[in-house]
Amino acid sequence: TSAQIGVTGLAVMGRNLARNFARNGYTVAVHNRTPSRTRELLAEFGDEGEFIGAESAAEFVAALERPRRLVIMVKAGDPTDAVIEEFAPLLEDGDVIIDGGNAHFADTRRRERDLRERGIHFVGTGISGGEEGALHGPSIMPGGSAESYESLGPMLAKISAKAADGAPCVTHVGPDGSGHFVKMVHNGIEYADMQLIAEAYQLLRDVGGRSPAEIAEVFRTWNTGRLDSYLIEITAEVLSHVDPATGEPFVDVVADQAEQKGTGRWTVQLALELGVPVSGIAEAVFARSLSGHTALREASRGLAGPTARPLSGAAADAFADQVEQALYASKIVSYTQGFHEIAAGSAEYGWNIDLGAIAGIWRGGCIIRAAFLDRIRAAYDARPDLPSLLSDETFAAEIADAQQDWREVLGAATGQGVPTPGFAAALAYYDSLRADRLPAALTQGQRDYFGAHTYRRTDREGTFHTRWAGDRSEVQM
Ligand code: NDP
Repeated sequence: TSAQIGVTGLAVMGRNLARNFARNGYTVAVHNRTPSRTRELLAEFGDEGEFIGAESAAEFVAALERPRRLVIMVKAGDPTDAVIEEFAPLLEDGDVIIDGGNAHFADTRRRERDLRERGIHFVGTGISGGEEGALHGPSIMPGGSAESYESLGPMLAKISAKAADGAPCVTHVGPDGSGHFVKMVHNGIEYADMQLIAEAYQLLRDVGGRSPAEIAEVFRTWNTGRLDSYLIEITAEVLSHVDPATGEPFVDVVADQAEQKGTGRWTVQLALELGVPVSGIAEAVFARSLSGHTALREASRGLAGPTARPLSGAAADAFADQVEQALYASKIVSYTQGFHEIAAGSAEYGWNIDLGAIAGIWRGGCIIRAAFLDRIRAAYDARPDLPSLLSDETFAAEIADAQQDWREVLGAATGQGVPTPGFAAALAYYDSLRADRLPAALTQGQRDYFGAHTYRRTDREGTFHTRWAGDRSEVQM
C-alpha cells in the first residue's frame, strides 16, 4: 500500500497532524530527521490508523502515492530550507510540498517560485490551533497554486476544525505566500485580542475593585454573550486558577513579562511597509516588549501618578458593564485593522483574497475563534467591497451604542493611572477615521515650511508651495 499523505517533522505539531490524518482514514507516511521520534509515534499511536514509518528520505518519498503530497512540520527558517533541499531532488513533476510551519510569507514566496521552476507545487500553509488543534482540527490557511488545492483541499477539509454550521475551517487563501501572510495577520490580531483582554482584567481589578476569581466570573458571563470566544474562555480559566504552592491567585505569582515568538512583530513590520495603520496590534506588540524591560521599569517605579480608587457594589457592577462595551468596541477596531492589512497585502501581491472566507475559516480551530467572526463573514459576504468593518451598519451601530462607555472607561483609566494602550489606540483610530478634519493639514504645512515638501488644497486641484522664507506668497508647482 502507499500513503496518500506524508508528514516529516514529528515534534508536537507534526505528530498530531499525522495522527489527525490517520484518524480520518488516510494512510500516512511519517518521517523525522531523528528516527527515534518516528518509532515513538508508531509505538504509541500506531493503532490509531494506517501509518507507514520511514527512516530515510528515499523510503519516505517511495511510500507516497503520486502526485506525492508531503507535509513539512519542522522548525521554521533554515531547517525548512534544509528539508526542502533534501526532498525536492527526489520528487517529480506535479508533486506537492506543504509547509505547515510558521514561515515568513516572503520566504514562502521565494520557495514557491524556486520549486515552481522545478515543477513542484509548494503550498505554504498557515495552521492555527496549537497542538490540540493539530490533533482535533485546526484552522488551515493554505496558499499556493489553485491546481494543488484541487487534490489537497478535500483532505485538509477532512482534518480541519468545523465551524458551528458545519463548514470546514479551510479555504484556498490565494497564490504563493498568501496563506502564511493571512496566518501572520491572524497572529497579530491574536496579540491585540490578548492585550485588550489583559487591559479589561487590569481595569476590573484596579478600578473595579474585584479579585482575580471574581473577574473570572465576569469573563464567564461575558463568554455567554457577544464576546463568546476561546480567548475569553481560557482567560476565565487562568484567572480562577490558584497556585498550588502558595495558595495565591496564579496570575499573581507569574512574572509579568510577556514573551513573543515574532509573528506579531512581523504583522506590524509588514503593516508599516504597506502603510496600513494597525495601531492596536502595534500597541499589543509594544506592550509585551515594554513588560520585558525590567531595569527600565524598576528605574521608573517612583514616578508620580494617581492611585486607583477601587469601586464597590453597584458602581463596580456598572463599571464592569462599561468595560465590556469598551472591550467589544476595541475588538471591532483590531479586526478592522487586521482585515485592512489582509486587503492591502492582497492588493500588493495580487492575491485576490476573499475576506469573508478568511473570517469564515477563523470561526473554528484557531486561537482567535469566536462567535463574532461569523458576523464579520456575513458583513463581507453581503458587501465584498466593504471599505472597512466599521462601515458595516451592524458594527457601526454597536460601536455607536458602546462609544460613550468606551470613553468613560478610558477616562477612568487615565484619571486613575491604569495603562490601557490597546483601548486608547483603538479609540484614537476610531475618532481619527470619523473626524471631519485631521491636524494632518498642519503637518503638511510644517513639512512645506521646513522642507518645501508642498501641499494640496481643499478648494483647488494642484500642488502648491508657500515661500515661507520670502514674502509668503503661494506658488503652484
Ligand atoms: P519545533 O518548531 O520545535 O521543531 C522541531 C522539529 O523540527 C523536529 O521534528 C526536528 O527534528 C525538526 N528539525 C529541526 N531542524 C531540522 C533540520 N535542520 N532538518 C530536519 N528537521 C529539523 O516543532 P513544533 O512541532 O512545535 O512546530 C513545528 C512547526 O509548526 C514550526 O514551524 C512551528 O512554528 C509551527 N507551529 C507550531 C505551533 C505550536 O503551537 N507549537 C502552532 C502552529 C505552527 P529532530 O527531531 O530531528 O530534532
